Amino acid sequence: LEPLFSFMIRVRVPGGVASALQWQRMDALADAYGNGTLKLTTRQTFQLHGVLKRNMPAAIQGFNEVQMDSIAGCGDVNRNVMCNTNPHESPVHGEVVRIAQEISAHLTPRTTAYREIWLDGDLVETTEAVDDEPIYGHTYLPRKFKIALALPPYNDSDIFSNDLGLIAIEENGQLLGFNVAVGGGLGMTFGMNETYPRLADLIGFVPADKVIEVCEKVVTIQRDWGNRENRKLSRLKYTIDRVGLPAFVAELHQRLSYELAPTRAYQFHSSSDAFGWTKSPSGLSQLVLFVEGGRVLDRPGYRLKSALREISAFHTGEFRLTGNQNLILANIEPQHVARIQAILEEAGAAPKADQLTALRRGALACVALNTCSQAFAEAERYLPHLLDKLDAVIRAQGLAETGILIRMTGCPNGCARPYLGEIGLVGRAPGRYNLYLGADHAGERLNKLYREMLDEDGILRELSPVLAAYAAGRQPGEGFGDFVVRTGIVKATVRGLDFHD
Ligand code: SF4
Repeated sequence: LEPLFSFMIRVRVPGGVASALQWQRMDALADAYGNGTLKLTTRQTFQLHGVLKRNMPAAIQGFNEVQMDSIAGCGDVNRNVMCNTNPHESPVHGEVVRIAQEISAHLTPRTTAYREIWLDGDLVETTEAVDDEPIYGHTYLPRKFKIALALPPYNDSDIFSNDLGLIAIEENGQLLGFNVAVGGGLGMTFGMNETYPRLADLIGFVPADKVIEVCEKVVTIQRDWGNRENRKLSRLKYTIDRVGLPAFVAELHQRLSYELAPTRAYQFHSSSDAFGWTKSPSGLSQLVLFVEGGRVLDRPGYRLKSALREISAFHTGEFRLTGNQNLILANIEPQHVARIQAILEEAGAAPKADQLTALRRGALACVALNTCSQAFAEAERYLPHLLDKLDAVIRAQGLAETGILIRMTGCPNGCARPYLGEIGLVGRAPGRYNLYLGADHAGERLNKLYREMLDEDGILRELSPVLAAYAAGRQPGEGFGDFVVRTGIVKATVRGLDFHD
């Protein structure tokens, strides 16, 4: 007799763009085979939780029928390619999304084993037909590989936390190309200071028509140079710090047979989402919707999942997943605007701006306990309760509308990018967290360890005076992370090797 295995399935959504039909299908699959909820992840994917082993084929067939898959949702290959979700929907942003989807397709493993195993009782495809992985080879990569694109001033895809980050550069409404950044990654292991979160280094600019080639060459260098003896030191960031950035760039130039151009000027303002309604030049509207913890569900007084199902029946635009676990209803036709707002209000899923602090609206949490086997502590299930208490502190200090990025994970692997939180909480043991402070608001500086092994009282005791000092002593426009660095509460982390200093 076999144990009752249940699985998490991660469904790719390159660039975070899903159709209404795809949303409907994921919603239905969550009810039929999952735990009745959908998780929107920090990498713009869907997660189905609690899928019993016997239901796996039907679930996979279900999303396969609407052109979705879980290929490379996991494993030592390129993962879901992220692209920021610019709510203003400029034509350049549309082009950047398209390029993100092309990069995703180019770097998807060619193996047919996926369909062979899961989708066909009668074998119609076989791996024998494809014995050729031109990019990954027979051994694939030493470790997972992550790519994200962003169009400034928005950095909600946190491009510097990726192995390869691409910053779109536009001029007079035309996409010129991308600044290229390599070597980001946030995972680390407690007690191993040779592991550390690291932000990607900018190494140059590439025209848009050559960006896929650059992605491929960076991946192949990591394939050939990455550490295959120690998985804890096998991400691209360690490869670059081992060989040195100049040697890595020289190898890239050699494989490209040309050099990248100098990096172009750009400016990021924020890595969080701007909630509410906006109208595009096309006349279509966008709604950026807050989804706490990325969890789409129904509970008494809050029927978000049902509301979105109802909307998906008539909405002709897209459902766009943001890198901050939120949702954009994109390209809404004018005649649907009032109807969508009414459905969300009726469901209790359209909170007024003053009901939620900016701290809560910008919070991220990974799944952690009881879903993730790596977790030492709670995150998604606990953070809302901690925020109830922190909100009281925030409101008392007059900071309810001040955007402060708070991010919590159940372990140091960093799935909710805690080291880019102005307040980062990383689980050490059940009910105990390390507290990190000092990242900036635009995703361009890591934070630093401030206190260890805090329980809830400890978190509130440590954070309250720092928040009070910030409220009293901040300079105009100064973010919380910048304040704690300027006033010496923590030292700035410059790139990564100094994270443990
Ligand atoms: Fe990722 Fe760790 Fe959170 Fe699991 S507990 S989702 S591995 S950060």
